[in-house]
Amino acid sequence: MAAALYKTEAIVLRGYPFGEADRVIVLQTAEHGKVRAVAKGVARGKSRLAAAAQPFTHGSYLLWQGRELDGISQADIVRPSHLLTADLATLAAAAYAVELVDSFWEDRQEAPEAFALLRESLDWLSGGGAPGPAFLRRLELQVLATAGFAPELEACVQCGRSLADGARYVPGRGGLCCPACGGEGRLLSPAAAGWLRALARTGLDHLPPLPAAGAADVAAALYGHVTYVLGRPLRSRGMLETLALKP
Ligand SMILES: [Zn+2]
Repeated sequence: MAAALYKTEAIVLRGYPFGEADRVIVLQTAEHGKVRAVAKGVARGKSRLAAAAQPFTHGSYLLWQGRELDGISQADIVRPSHLLTADLATLAAAAYAVELVDSFWEDRQEAPEAFALLRESLDWLSGGGAPGPAFLRRLELQVLATAGFAPELEACVQCGRSLADGARYVPGRGGLCCPACGGEGRLLSPAAAGWLRALARTGLDHLPPLPAAGAADVAAALYGHVTYVLGRPLRSRGMLETLALKP
């Protein structure tokens, strides 16, 4: 009996070797969540699927359904990976976006919003969008919100009081706390807290300008929230931090 085929839009998150000639490609699909699919022959470099199996590729995939793993039958590329790999800062930001989505959602967990967020982020980067702090912080906020961990930013998450006298970000409580409740949380200046709120509300085409000070505190606070939820650090964070140290 022939294997059942299904077609889906997807973005390649990563791949790993499978046997001598094949690779398993991990796809974030639009309709079926995260799917692992064998791409036959791509390790030998002669398969017409090779380009469609590259990380960051957005395409339309015809997949066959297997027992353990599915497989790629055909693929039409919508956005090739090289648009995201030519520039090092863009590559680092794309790798971070992919690892965030890969980490927050499980295999086969239906998550059309996660696919849409990743597609929007990679489209924006491939179109020349700056892979800077505003993009990265909005990405973290969107991933947290889409996964059900949207941080509370408007009032103290503990007591509901106004944050006019200062705010501390406490991942374990799910957002900003007033000074009395915030204890050990990371202190954010009013400008930094305002920037965080603006980032949570805006689209990629209207990213708010960096605050005069405190952007690094926002970066540390949000990454603290991401690692608190995941229980581990992200591999791609190292490259971002190395690039950020450059003049
Ligand atoms: Zn409070």
